[in-house]
Amino acid sequence: MNSFFDWVLDNGRPGAVVLGLVGAALLTVTFVDYRATHGFFVALPLSGTVCLFLGVALFVSGRGKSTFEVAPPRPLDPALWTELQAEVRPYSLCLACRRVTAFSPCMHCDKAADVMTVETDDDLALAKAAME
Ligand SMILES: [Zn+2]
Repeated sequence: MNSFFDWVLDNGRPGAVVLGLVGAALLTVTFVDYRATHGFFVALPLSGTVCLFLGVALFVSGRGKSTFEVAPPRPLDPALWTELQAEVRPYSLCLACRRVTAFSPCMHCDKAADVMTVETDDDLALAKAAME
């Protein structure tokens, strides 16, 4: 059942139409069942209504496949690493643009949260880990 909903969400509007049709089919079965037996299983109209409602809502919002992408990793340049080890401490390092900066916010990219002060070997190891 979960794979069905995954399929619906992955397929945007066509998936929404299928979900809406499933809802309509469940409601039709409920109606036919009621006409034939003068009773119905209460879960059928509930799931039918929910599927129909979600199908219409997904169709209107028109959401398709997720476009979320993870940024590709940027390996640390060995030349930069050598440079950072040789730099006179303490110094400020911007982790976003990977440059030594005189102050925070970074004078190259203007970001404040990514600037760290390197004083000890632990700071340098932390900076290296953050940039890998
Ligand atoms: Zn920067």
